[in-house]
Amino acid sequence: MFEDFDDITKMMNLSDFDDEETSIMEANNIEFKKTLGKLMGLSRKEAKSDSCFYCGKKVNSFCNSHSIPAMFLRNIAINGDLYNNNIMIKLPLIDDETGVNKTGTFHILCRECDSIIFRDYENPKNYNSTPTSKMLAQIAMKNFLRGISKRKLEIALYNNMASELGLPKEFYEQQQMVNELDLKENIEGFKRAKKINEKGWDNEYYLIYHKKLSYVVPLAFQSQLALQFDLEGNLINDIYYDSSKYKIQSMHLCVFPEENSSTIIMFIDSKDRRYRSFYKQFNKLSEDDKLSVINYMIFSLSEDVYLNKEINDIILNDNNLREVAGKTQHIFSISPIKDPNAIAYDNLSFSQRHRIPNFLLEEYKVDLTSE
Ligand SMILES: [Zn+2]
Repeated sequence: MFEDFDDITKMMNLSDFDDEETSIMEANNIEFKKTLGKLMGLSRKEAKSDSCFYCGKKVNSFCNSHSIPAMFLRNIAINGDLYNNNIMIKLPLIDDETGVNKTGTFHILCRECDSIIFRDYENPKNYNSTPTSKMLAQIAMKNFLRGISKRKLEIALYNNMASELGLPKEFYEQQQMVNELDLKENIEGFKRAKKINEKGWDNEYYLIYHKKLSYVVPLAFQSQLALQFDLEGNLINDIYYDSSKYKIQSMHLCVFPEENSSTIIMFIDSKDRRYRSFYKQFNKLSEDDKLSVINYMIFSLSEDVYLNKEINDIILNDNNLREVAGKTQHIFSISPIKDPNAIAYDNLSFSQRHRIPNFLLEEYKVDLTSE
């Protein structure tokens, strides 16, 4: 992964480890897992609050909340399991299967809140028509809550890694600054989504795309994404500009496999004007190409995709797919980086979307008759 020193500056790609690096990691797997497990356990304890993040009531145990509703995950799970994105990038320290009960879960809500506040969007009957404003607010709320939970854990983990393993001071401070900024943005996004849901306000979110497909797609996804560029390469989010004055604008994207169909939902906060050029360009694409854009965003910008285990191994081992799934937004450089966005654009541009299989097309549908 670090072999290309002629390429002084490059984007980190997780699928990039060579055989030697992989074997070293595998040899150290047990020791590493033990150390990381210990730090993770400690961090989890420290990040944990004693009250529900939504209602503020004191609780002894938290709900096992799913970022993707379990009712959708079950539609494509085989014996309760799904593949996670490591099936493609193949990091040696990480499992490539996840059980439905552990898929994209977080633990900051009480059981009562979890059963009430997502009620509209977690009801399969509500998927026969355009999603309501309340459903969008609940999806956004869930995405922000997951972000809050993740960042709190990461902040505690970096503190523990710094004190137990020793991290370079500059690296540690930079990471924690980014973590704190992101936590703050997630909390603000959550508060706004909560209010919109409670008040039942319309038009606070802008639905860019809603599509009902007549077949079951082999993947499930729900997350917020920070798009760096639109389809023509214009900057949307300068994620390398770390300032509390600059707000990253996220979009929310869902791909839900239902019993006999699938629903795709893509929306933004109506205040987030930087996405205008993107959705204007997107609307002009053919239906199949819209799906390829969404498919590419999921694999290149997120690690939170879960896949049906009957997808052919040959497809999952496709080198282009592995490379796209391993993409990160991190840039390595041994010299100061003049224009990080230009480097990122070469690596993440939408022009690459046709290089990978488009799992949202009918040809990849889950074959329900074989089950
Ligand atoms: Zn609660």
